[in-house]
Amino acid sequence: MVKNKENLVFQAEVSKLLDLVANSLYSEREIFLRELISNSADACEKLRYESLSKKNLLSDDSDLKINIRVSKKNKTIEIEDNGIGMSRQDLIDNLGTIARSGTNKFIEAMRSKKNADINAIGQFGVGFYSSYMVAKSVEVLSKDAFKKESNLWTSNGKENYSIENIEKKKRGTLITLHINKDSDEFLDSFRLRSIITKYSNYIPFPIFLKDQDDKEKEEKINEGDPLWLKDKKDIKQEDYKQFYNNISLNFDDPLKTIHYNAEGVINYKALLYLPTNQPMDLFNSDRKNKIKLYVQKVFITDECNEIIPNWLRFIPGVIDSQDISLNISREMLQNNPVITKIKKGITTKILNEFTTFANKENNKYLSFWKNFGAVIKEGLYELNEYHEKILSLVRFENSLDSTFISLNDYEKKMIKNQKEIYYFANTDKEHIKNSPQLEVFLDKKIPVLFMTDAVDEFWLQNVKYKKFDFKSITKGKVDLSKFGDEKKGKNKDKNKKLNSNINDLINVLKNELKDKISDVILSERLTKSPVLLLADESGMDINMEKLMKMHNQKTPTSKKILEINSDHPMIIKISENLKKINHKKAANLLLDQANILDGNTLSNPSEYIENLTELFIN
Ligand code: ADP
Repeated sequence: MVKNKENLVFQAEVSKLLDLVANSLYSEREIFLRELISNSADACEKLRYESLSKKNLLSDDSDLKINIRVSKKNKTIEIEDNGIGMSRQDLIDNLGTIARSGTNKFIEAMRSKKNADINAIGQFGVGFYSSYMVAKSVEVLSKDAFKKESNLWTSNGKENYSIENIEKKKRGTLITLHINKDSDEFLDSFRLRSIITKYSNYIPFPIFLKDQDDKEKEEKINEGDPLWLKDKKDIKQEDYKQFYNNISLNFDDPLKTIHYNAEGVINYKALLYLPTNQPMDLFNSDRKNKIKLYVQKVFITDECNEIIPNWLRFIPGVIDSQDISLNISREMLQNNPVITKIKKGITTKILNEFTTFANKENNKYLSFWKNFGAVIKEGLYELNEYHEKILSLVRFENSLDSTFISLNDYEKKMIKNQKEIYYFANTDKEHIKNSPQLEVFLDKKIPVLFMTDAVDEFWLQNVKYKKFDFKSITKGKVDLSKFGDEKKGKNKDKNKKLNSNINDLINVLKNELKDKISDVILSERLTKSPVLLLADESGMDINMEKLMKMHNQKTPTSKKILEINSDHPMIIKISENLKKINHKKAANLLLDQANILDGNTLSNPSEYIENLTELFIN
């Protein structure tokens, strides 16, 4: 039995979103048309793909197209397509709920920064709702290409919507916007025409516009021909930009456009872009790549994970190849040798483009790197043949002059006898700069790289640069004696009394802290700070451990090594007064200080204050 009119309530997120949309900025409202046209084009592409295997699906309605109609008299704009359509359940699932996990983040960002860009709405799979920027109510009449029934979805964009069976003769979707008073500028057909050419010129289906109050015939507005098949010299920058905005749903200017024709063993055309800004959804875990795969102009899928490495997922674009069969099913794209070869081709091409970019426009490249480096470095974590190339592209801030440098630059800055690349990994740059671990390196002018992305901890485990290993300065003893150790020399001159005091202190600390730390050693690297915590050589790097803990509570805490600075006045003072002071308190005080310097929270801060006070008073 067919259900008749049903009233349904929007999912809470949808209501929140609708509220935001209705209050969005005046100047941004025109994008509603772009979003609706883009949905219609997707519906046409889905149908065209399905019709490859089901020939009679198109029946007598085989020219896929989008019709826009406007009427000042009725105060309506209609957007109609003869694409795949939606069933009753599709209407409920697609226009009443939000499936994608990133959407909440978008809503929050929009809320907190009042004018965070509504333009990004398409990235979050909620573009349809932008129609409520201009409409007081919206009707969606749709007929699924595979079903006989058709349904009308209606809502004024507040809390609820209704669905009822209403006949629609032809397959596809007709959206009617009842334009609100403030938005009557959009009832002007010239205005609509300019919006369509501005945003949707390269939608690969004809878009017709008709003014219903006028007897004039409808006219085709968009260019329509696939841009990627055109000759480069016939394409203007604005065309490239618009196409980029269409396919990526990003709204910035492309930073670079990579358009080429691969001919040889495998033939394909590629039009790829580097974005200028970080898309808002870049780090969402369910974010896939943004490559659309076409076979001879027919859209096949935008969900082919094998077409580009995951670590290049921020690159939107189109690949069109005649070497893939038009009848291929999406499942068959997995482990497909042609796709594998295309992937290799575009990866190499993109990495070469990066190299040229880095060599020719260093500053611009750096800002690109700051946006996308964290993603590209994921390529060092997985096994692949591109490590050497990626390592030539990475950039890190260095301790000597705080500029971003390449590993090649680092090599040039290395001092005599240096055999390892020193790094400090922590996502908090200020913490690195103020860390005791860094002191001696600054003193001796030994360069240290700051690894501030969470991913660094992972790739560093399995990568070498040329003959150099990467060495964390927060893990294990760092042997700096080969760099000329003035400190040891100084120590030698110190009187025996002091040395024996320090030795006594070390023994006291070892004894008092034996449950908490694995060893106490005399520091060769501290210059300003009294103490330092250090991971065991065989143990996990301190920051790696913190990171693992964030993801998995069960990571055991490994015991650290406590380094003490025998030149520090406090250490000297404590060692001289060992007989007079409470050993347990003094030991815990030093350990607490090391923990503070390491950015840890103390388990018993008031005890720390007590111990400190006592030491002062005595
Ligand atoms: P997105 O298009 O980014 O997924 P939208 O909120 O714009 O997000 O649309 C939600 C879903 O509704 C689409 O994914 C699609 O399945 C469906 N939809 C919207 N418009 C149409 C249409 N004209 N024809 C068929 N399905 C549509």
